[in-house]
Amino acid sequence: MQLSRIAFRLPRLVVLSIAFLTPFLSAFLRPQRLHARTIAPLTRVTLESMAGDKPRMDTPAAPEPPVPAVATTESLSIGEPNRGRLINGVEVETDERLLVRSDENFGTAETVEAIRRVVDAVHARFPGTHKIVVGDLSREHGGRIRPHKSHQSGRDVDLGFYLNGEGQPSLFVPVTAKNLDYERTMALIDAIAADDSAQYVFIDRRVQKMLYDYAVDVQKRAPESMAGLFEYPRKGSLTTLVRHRRGHRNHLHIRFFSPQAVAAGEKFGGEALAQMGAKLDPFQRVRFTHVIRKGDTLARVAQRYRLDLTNVMKWNGLKRRSTLQVGQGLALYRTVKVPEGRNTASGMCHAGPRAIGCWHPSRS
Ligand SMILES: [Zn+2]
Repeated sequence: MQLSRIAFRLPRLVVLSIAFLTPFLSAFLRPQRLHARTIAPLTRVTLESMAGDKPRMDTPAAPEPPVPAVATTESLSIGEPNRGRLINGVEVETDERLLVRSDENFGTAETVEAIRRVVDAVHARFPGTHKIVVGDLSREHGGRIRPHKSHQSGRDVDLGFYLNGEGQPSLFVPVTAKNLDYERTMALIDAIAADDSAQYVFIDRRVQKMLYDYAVDVQKRAPESMAGLFEYPRKGSLTTLVRHRRGHRNHLHIRFFSPQAVAAGEKFGGEALAQMGAKLDPFQRVRFTHVIRKGDTLARVAQRYRLDLTNVMKWNGLKRRSTLQVGQGLALYRTVKVPEGRNTASGMCHAGPRAIGCWHPSRS
């Protein structure tokens, strides 16, 4: 009798004691895990890292606003790549030359056509080339896709590089001297230059150097002939097709002009936004430079432009005590109100073939 009662109680005792101990055990274990999680390396916020964009393959999208019925079937690129919308966008889809890895695969009709043209040009020269990996374009109706700054108005696309070796790359792969397919990547850049539909291409300087050296040493191109193509070996050129942006070592970013969609955006954009119940934020952050003069301190510069000192330091990767050199440029930002109806894409930025003198900087 006694024995069987104990035998009956034993499992209950075990269950009860586990139930009783679990909160203590987990409380004991959890802080360590949290601790390990929260200590992430501090990211140094520099202009480049703010400007750079990382490929973003599968973050879920926020709900889309209602579809506006605009009096045109043309694509509308409204506003700007960094602050814009897309209406009547066209989807770029996977086929035997493109491997589309993002659901934010909408561009203006011109953007999608241009992507196909430049990729087709590579295949015309090199049949059997692997599919190019296509990352983000824009959301169906544009707007912000984190972590990008641009990709908002159907004029941007991220593409993987052409790589050596068998098989089809399925993701953006960081480029090395070994895995880069120099010949096909140069063919792609040449095709983009010849197509004349792109405002610029962002590629990390290290990859530019590899391609530049290949073009000069192997393809025997004259360095002068490369001057309009690559920013490398110079620094900070705003006039070349290919420009440096951090974060573009595993993919390149093309910004297309898309003149028809921009014009249609100006014409019908207001109507479309009204139907979506949306408005473009009239305020935009623009970058400018202050050149350090004798007697300048960080605090004085911040005060002069009514900026927060912490931000000034952060934007320039400086500390409170950092020494400033006369003639040194400080990158500063201020928020301005964009004039009504102003569409920089079709304004000064679009006036020249390679966009010298945009009134605000375009970022990736
Ligand atoms: Zn991009």
